[in-house]
Amino acid sequence: MNFDLTEEQRMYRDAVRNFCQKELAPYADDVDKTGEMRWEAIRKMPELGITGLMVDEAYGGAGLDTVSAALAIEEVGRACGSTGLSIAAHNGLGCAPIMRWGTDEQKKKFLPMLTSGAYLGALALTEPNAGSDLAGGVRTNAYQEDGCWVINGHKAWITNPQFAPVINVLVRTEPEAGTRGFSMILVEPDRKGVTIQKPESKMGLKGSPTQQITFENVRVPLSNTLGEEGKGFYQTMQTLDGGRITIGALSVGLAQAAFEASMKYAQQREAFGRPIAQFQAIQWMIADAEVEIEAARTLVMKAAWLKDQERDFTKAAAIAKLKASEVAEKVCFNAIQIHGSYGYSAEFPVERIYRDQRLMTIGEGTSEVLRIVISRRALQDHGLI
Ligand SMILES: Cc1cc2nc3c(=O)[nH]c(=O)nc-3n(C[C@H](O)[C@H](O)[C@H](O)COP(=O)(O)OP(=O)(O)OC[C@H]3O[C@@H](n4cnc5c(N)ncnc54)[C@H](O)[C@@H]3O)c2cc1C
Repeated sequence: MNFDLTEEQRMYRDAVRNFCQKELAPYADDVDKTGEMRWEAIRKMPELGITGLMVDEAYGGAGLDTVSAALAIEEVGRACGSTGLSIAAHNGLGCAPIMRWGTDEQKKKFLPMLTSGAYLGALALTEPNAGSDLAGGVRTNAYQEDGCWVINGHKAWITNPQFAPVINVLVRTEPEAGTRGFSMILVEPDRKGVTIQKPESKMGLKGSPTQQITFENVRVPLSNTLGEEGKGFYQTMQTLDGGRITIGALSVGLAQAAFEASMKYAQQREAFGRPIAQFQAIQWMIADAEVEIEAARTLVMKAAWLKDQERDFTKAAAIAKLKASEVAEKVCFNAIQIHGSYGYSAEFPVERIYRDQRLMTIGEGTSEVLRIVISRRALQDHGLI
């Protein structure tokens, strides 16, 4: 395996880094405090393909490989966690399923809007009583009537719906068929019967809207079915595999930002007549962060690379997301420790980054669920189940 970045990938990462450090990082605090995303920056993102990382150029995307897409998400997350989550969800959950399973007509209709920088995409899986256990818990359902799907139900914790021109919605279309009874339906939020609630009040990622959606007798043409009817659960699992690489990359970006802020602070802050960076206890935290971030980034890159090689990447993506999210927690915890009281103050970025990163071990597969996925695959790999 060759994990070295190509010259093109390196140049792309650097261009995205420059953009994000100029257009997002200086405003990340405002985004957190106001709960408003910086649309001025998002509208400029199509120039670098950030709003359509892996969408074909024909639909306004950048047509990039997964490694480049992961590099971009890391940079967005490093500059602003809220924007990072919304852009990660937009690409991985909003655009990716349409790009993969959409008909030509669906792609032509929705992807140019999604890549334009004027909207953000969304995927609605979770419900008030269904998170990790989607198969057992999803109640949102759809039945056919007069050439339409009629959708009823309630989704919760959905990223971006207020900005979405279309939402990919997981519904039960055949209640008795178990995991074969789900379908994915494209629902435009301006259809009669769709209600999007105001954003949840959250611990972090405050600029990224997380909302409930209610569907009350929402009629959608059958032509809005995404991919094959009955394949919705399979599509969900495939989408989450890709999304886990993205959340892994975002976690690395958040950890990197907290780490850099801590090193800078450790050089400036003095105690006992010298910069605290000269104390071994601080140096060890710096060393551990350097090692762990490097390990997490390598795992994310490996999963992305496997996907680009069209090899099985389910276990690799789960490992990458599990490791990167747990590294982010540890690195951000220590970042506050290195800052002392100032780290606990909203005046310093590590306080915000610590709150932002906390989602990473929960969204798109909790750490516990990922351990189930990894252990099952490990036992299979060893021929034990
Ligand atoms: C900011 C934010 C953004 C989100 N964005 C989206 C989005 O865009 N689209 C979307 O569909 N969803 C989204 N979600 C929802 C998110 O994906 C779910 O919250 C997540 O999947 C966990 O589900 P849950 O919250 O229902 O937890 P639960 O499934 O109720 O889990 C609760 C606890 O029980 C543990 N647990 C559950 N089952 C097992 C088991 N078998 N073994 C061991 N432990 C177990 C879990 O690991 C966890 O610790 C978002 C959530 C947040 C907070």
